[in-house]
Amino acid sequence: MYKPPYRNLFESGKLARRAEQLTAMLASCNICPLDCNINRLAGEISRCYSAWLPIVSSYCPHFGEEPALVGTNGVGNIFFGNCNLKCSYCQNYEISQRWKEERKNEISIERLAEIMIELQDIHGCHAIGFVSPTHFVPQMVEGILEACKFGLHVPIIYNTNAYDSVEVLKLLAGIVDIYLPDIKYAEDEMGYRYSGVKEYVRHSRAALSEMHRQMGNELIVGEDGLVKRGLIIRHLVLPNDLAGSRETLSFIANNLSSHVTLSVMSQYYPTNKVTAENVDKFESLQLLNRRIREREYDKVLDLLDEFGFENGWAQEFESQDYYRPDFSNRIIPFTR
Ligand code: SF4
Repeated sequence: MYKPPYRNLFESGKLARRAEQLTAMLASCNICPLDCNINRLAGEISRCYSAWLPIVSSYCPHFGEEPALVGTNGVGNIFFGNCNLKCSYCQNYEISQRWKEERKNEISIERLAEIMIELQDIHGCHAIGFVSPTHFVPQMVEGILEACKFGLHVPIIYNTNAYDSVEVLKLLAGIVDIYLPDIKYAEDEMGYRYSGVKEYVRHSRAALSEMHRQMGNELIVGEDGLVKRGLIIRHLVLPNDLAGSRETLSFIANNLSSHVTLSVMSQYYPTNKVTAENVDKFESLQLLNRRIREREYDKVLDLLDEFGFENGWAQEFESQDYYRPDFSNRIIPFTR
């Protein structure tokens, strides 16, 4: 039976020290590469509109993740509110960009721990998946520490936009079991234009390299056939090749390995700021104002062969028809 390394860290007292180290970073916040240097412990807020208490916008067993994570009872996803990126096309915008409103969903660390235990023990989820965790890493680790006291034992999934700090990721070694980063762009200009951050490429690639250093290529699979540990790199294909798929896949093959596990996603659809009204006003949004074409998707799938990738998943092209979260329903935001 798989025992997550965070249990050993908990038993040796090291998990408490890591939580303390991470929480101390909030006093002059450099938890993500934006380096805002504000005191979140004193209630100050900056780019991610998040202070000390974690914002949990929704939580539920989720069946839409990669098949080898989901199993019969799903991943127990905990959706943090707000975000360190401001993606124009964010599919979770109802919880990631309603900055002031989401602060109403602040909860205590004890409640965060309770949610983890509920997902594990009541819903039987095979893992706890933290969605958009970057700006809440210290709170996440404090929550895991608290939940360990009540028997948390399933793998922890870190489901991130990859704009993560390497220093913080190093402190997550042995705490996170499965890294699930989505690598978004291969050009900084796109990162700035569509997600509002500088140097996305340098930071995301450094983050991926650190995740790969910790996990290597191999996925550890349990007796139940589900992934317990490893790195799965997601790549959402955008229209007009705004995601720079060739450059991104080439980086992964040449700088990490072609033996890593990839998850290529076709589910993009125009949403959030990509509305008819905005598209008329802002030329840059025009390029995002359609789904991807089957031909565009097939080209990316051909690159998998070209670069020698053998492990992973590619969403069906039709996924854009059914993968649409609706966070106006916070209890069941996904229909599948
Ligand atoms: S986590 Fe938030 S406050 Fe801290 S550096 Fe990033 S955006 Fe700024």
